[in-house]
Amino acid sequence: MQNSWYQIQAPGVGQAWIAGWLTSVHNTTSQTGTSQNTTQQKYGKIMTDVLNVRSGPGTNYTLLTKIGLNEVHEIVEQKEGWYKIKVGEQLGWVTADYVELVSAPVNNTENQPTQDNTYAQTVVVTGGTVNIRQQAVIDAKVIAKVNAGERLAITAKQGDWLEVKLYDGTKGWIAEWLTEPTTATTSSRGSILESEVLIAPIAEGKAFKIIDSAGRPILLLEGWTSDQYQISSSNDNKIILELDGPTERNYEGKNTRLGIQGIKIYPKAQKAVIEVSFSFAPTQSISYDEASKKTRIQLGTKQTKGLTGKVIVVDPGHSSIQPGGWLDPGALGKYTGLKEKDVNTDIAFKLKKLLEEAGAGVIMTHTGQTELSLAARAGLANSANADIFVSVHANYSLKNNISGHSTYYYAPTNDAVLNTQKYSRQKLATLVQRELVIAGGRKDMGVLTANFAVLRETRVPSILVETAFLSDVEEEKLLGTEAYRQKLAIGIFNGIKAYFE
Ligand SMILES: [Zn+2]
Repeated sequence: MQNSWYQIQAPGVGQAWIAGWLTSVHNTTSQTGTSQNTTQQKYGKIMTDVLNVRSGPGTNYTLLTKIGLNEVHEIVEQKEGWYKIKVGEQLGWVTADYVELVSAPVNNTENQPTQDNTYAQTVVVTGGTVNIRQQAVIDAKVIAKVNAGERLAITAKQGDWLEVKLYDGTKGWIAEWLTEPTTATTSSRGSILESEVLIAPIAEGKAFKIIDSAGRPILLLEGWTSDQYQISSSNDNKIILELDGPTERNYEGKNTRLGIQGIKIYPKAQKAVIEVSFSFAPTQSISYDEASKKTRIQLGTKQTKGLTGKVIVVDPGHSSIQPGGWLDPGALGKYTGLKEKDVNTDIAFKLKKLLEEAGAGVIMTHTGQTELSLAARAGLANSANADIFVSVHANYSLKNNISGHSTYYYAPTNDAVLNTQKYSRQKLATLVQRELVIAGGRKDMGVLTANFAVLRETRVPSILVETAFLSDVEEEKLLGTEAYRQKLAIGIFNGIKAYFE
């Protein structure tokens, strides 16, 4: 390519030049083609969690779709801080602030399912209940449904569709715009998933990353030895990193889920400065690995009041995958057959939303079905060193005229760990029960103790909430309504909130 002109071979004309803006480059490896030129095409790598793709170069334009961290898309036009990019077959505009220019080869099998590394290995489903289809087209046969929050492994990509692997091993296609990318790896802490939520290359071979470790942030420096950076802070809620070596990187962002109110990266003399401010005053635990030149700054919360920065494990009762593939439904409503698992899962997700909006990090033990044992569900809270564990259930009685709300905890004297938590466990159960009764308006059956597996196996304060009775005609009807399930979620939320105050 010479400026914006392409040299072409035209029949009957021989060699000629054509204005670049009148053509589009097609990849071809033929001798007379423009294969040399295609390597100069511009690609943009997305440097933020989620980036909006709009119909025009401005935030006032319609939102077309969302793209995620590390995705690479072709840039076809540029205008005042905005890039027009090609997402599958669709064209749209993104702000240039979160796009890094990279060179990438043209994918010449664009319409074939391909394995490349431009997409995350796993995605999280974002839109309500989403169809999984047999083929990568909108009207293909629906072979399964997945719920918001479920994490799926990607096996291939075709246009705007991702081929994903389902729990039973079968594969199907999900619309990419109903998912968010995650790059999940298993951490040394066991079964807790860590995902990179920001990757900012600072200089050749050097990068700054932010990792979401079960709702808590980890700052990762790659490529600096331990004497090539300084860590300081100008106030309790801020960490400033000064890294040796020049950079051209400027970046501003935030991550509310992790309690990060602002991330600022900018050059200063022969250094790169990274300022990270938090909605809480973080404690730091720093580890440095000499072999890989990696510094890991793990951030925790001091014993502060309020929900901000707390990690809460929410366990929707039942839904365990049984031998043969069916799901344990829990109790079945006496009058309409309403499944307890569906009630529990819905209330649990409503609770998750409320907690996250209040600044807490939430780990769900599952998102609709799980192979985890009850002890393993509790184990999630233990390995994350969560602040509390809350299991959500609905009750059932064979006796007539039994109804109302109840909350369980367990802290026997013969278990040293649980017994030292007796005050916390009882307090959590008491406050949640109090608020549940206020919100739900049914009979107060009180705070009870029971040796339930999830309460026994959790090493952090835990409760099990029996929201209402599926064997009571009125309560089954109430549990069947979205509005009442929301009330119950608010009740549990208010109790948890009171516990941390
Ligand atoms: Zn149950």
